[in-house]
Amino acid sequence: MGVQENLQTVKERIDKACKACGRSSDEITLVAVSKTKPNEDILEALAAGQVHFGENRAKELQDKMEQIEKENIQWHFLGNLQTNKIKYMVERVDWIVSVHKKKALKEIEKRASRIDRHINVLIQVNISEEDQKSGCEPEELEPILKYAQELKFTHVRGIMGMATFTDDLDVVRKEFKVLKKLRDDHLHMNGGSVNLEHVSMGMTNDLEVAIEEGTTMVRVGTAIFGERNY
Ligand SMILES: *Cc1c(COP(=O)(O)O)cnc(C)c1O
Repeated sequence: MGVQENLQTVKERIDKACKACGRSSDEITLVAVSKTKPNEDILEALAAGQVHFGENRAKELQDKMEQIEKENIQWHFLGNLQTNKIKYMVERVDWIVSVHKKKALKEIEKRASRIDRHINVLIQVNISEEDQKSGCEPEELEPILKYAQELKFTHVRGIMGMATFTDDLDVVRKEFKVLKKLRDDHLHMNGGSVNLEHVSMGMTNDLEVAIEEGTTMVRVGTAIFGERNY
């Protein structure tokens, strides 16, 4: 199946899941995760109206942004954010969805203010039981948000989490519940540059569960672009 058909199928999955729990699919932003996939696939999705694209490797994202010069595309960086890559990201991407340290926020703000460019950020929170953790711990969220309130160019638009890598959807659901509750419990931190409108969770295998548990942003790769070879 081609990218456009796959995209259509994913949208139907989203619609169906939303209907089943009384939500509107307008509440859900679909990020097409195009990592490892060629530019032609991205252009095909773009032609079908897809706006948000996510990549997790800085160099690959850099190359793609340079090769695909389109106005109507929003790039999300969702990988491990190294400090030396922040300058470039801030110049080009629209969203950085894997921030979990004040230090990174500080660097993003410094770079963004220098070029007078505004950037959207999600704070990644660790919700999985795995050893290889990514994201801040839940109790670190409040001080990070407090710091972020004072920023001018860096806008914290929500939080993001990765569930444990497992086929057991009950485990995944439990972790999604934790993330959604964390967002709700921190809504009092809205103010200044913080507005926790987004909970980013849900990927190819668990997007229905994520929708039931309140996601506002799903990040889907495989279901749109096919299996990845690496
Ligand atoms: C790869 C990736 C995805 C997409 O995963 P699929 O299972 O292919 O849908 C989502 N989020 C992040 C952070 C990723 O790295």
